Amino acid sequence: MPTVTRFAPSPTGQIHLGNARTALFNWLAARHDGGKFLLRIEDTDAAREMTGATDAILADLAWLGLVWDGDVFHQSRQRARHLDAVKALTEKGRLYPCFCSERTLALARRAQERAGKPPRYPGTCAALDPAEAARRANADEPYTLRFRVPAGRIVSFVDRAHGEQSFATDDIGDFVVTRSDGSPAFFFVNALDDAAQGVSLVLRGDDHLSNTPRQLLILEALGHAAPEYGHVPLMLGSSGRPMSKRDGLDGEPETRANRAGAYAVSHLRDDGYHPLALVNYLARVAGHVDSVDALPLADLARAFDPGKFARSAARFDSDQLDHWQRVTLDALAPDALWAWMGEPVHARVPVTERDAYIAVVRPNVLFPGDALDWAFVLFDDNPMPQKAAVALLQDADAAFFERAASAYDDGLEWGAWLAKVKTATGAKGPALFKPLRAALTGRLDGPDLAGVFALLTPARIRQRLALAASLASPSVGAAPLRRE
Ligand code: GLU
Repeated sequence: MPTVTRFAPSPTGQIHLGNARTALFNWLAARHDGGKFLLRIEDTDAAREMTGATDAILADLAWLGLVWDGDVFHQSRQRARHLDAVKALTEKGRLYPCFCSERTLALARRAQERAGKPPRYPGTCAALDPAEAARRANADEPYTLRFRVPAGRIVSFVDRAHGEQSFATDDIGDFVVTRSDGSPAFFFVNALDDAAQGVSLVLRGDDHLSNTPRQLLILEALGHAAPEYGHVPLMLGSSGRPMSKRDGLDGEPETRANRAGAYAVSHLRDDGYHPLALVNYLARVAGHVDSVDALPLADLARAFDPGKFARSAARFDSDQLDHWQRVTLDALAPDALWAWMGEPVHARVPVTERDAYIAVVRPNVLFPGDALDWAFVLFDDNPMPQKAAVALLQDADAAFFERAASAYDDGLEWGAWLAKVKTATGAKGPALFKPLRAALTGRLDGPDLAGVFALLTPARIRQRLALAASLASPSVGAAPLRRE
């Protein structure tokens, strides 16, 4: 049977990298064996829902390329079925009303903690006479419905990340299935919907691991098959704190890496990360991929091992993400790279120079902003030189640039010009290339100078050499540059 997985976000905010990784693992596990990847929006908690969050989640998944099968499943529209399950469990005698107040429960918890025991429901209402319970319920006394956990059993399952898991039911305690307002609990409907959607594998954050034994008991009581589970270690922010859908701020001075929502997929998209860089990075954070290349999604699904996950939490590493950005861009065909560079770049680069421009700047572009900067340098009459380049020019000898300019004839090729400049100035190595780069580009680093030179018009070459000469120091001293 092909695998059926799902991504089940609650629409309480923008999805961050940790959420995206959960979605990706489920997508990859499904595609790995030709199964299905379903999308379920867990929107039953109206108070925590954020306006627009569902649309934003769909947009983020689509941008990442994590296309889901079939229609989006909205949990809030499944109320009748959820209540049918409550009814079925009640009829089987698996639920009982609990009239304990919050205060009574808190006192019991505290007493257990003081005694060094794990807090669990002490079972106060488990033995209430049904007639008495009905009388209190009819008198409008608020109550929750609790699941009667069978005593003396061990619930076990093999987790794809954490291996063999066993929980003694005596440690679980009867848990709440519907709240006093009649609404079903989160983990209850979560398990019901997995069964209703035919989900066979649940990959999710290991913060949900403790829900699983309770969910297995519910599914068993209702006669539903249980899915397989993999509780993947959480992805932490760069400071080691868990990522949050609501803020993502790490409580430190705000920088690019930790500003509010820094890990939101939408922010990384706005920063110019390529979706394939994100998915290639994320697939390797606690996941196993049999390749060091940046792979398109379909190949990533083949190389991904859906049975192997690391057990310990991993921190976000922006160097790693940037590495995948580099590898991804290197593997992009020129058309795809051009499309990714975006409209502002398209508007600045002459159509006739497009291919040469892409070939020249490619190694120096990590974000669309870099591509735009090089478009200015190459195709603007007066690109703003960087401070460091200005400083270098100011320290240089004006005669160097004057001679470089007189060695230049319109249309002269780079190699021929360079040879002439070398002869005219006596400079070689860095003493030749550094000032030429600073003069021609206003930068100390950048693409191969021959490629840059070929894209500059003769007028721009002349004008930049003249500007460099005017910024540089007039020739002084006993050893003037050799004249041609
Ligand atoms: N709605 C839950 C969440 O966003 C999903 C938990 C699960 O995947 O089972 O954390």
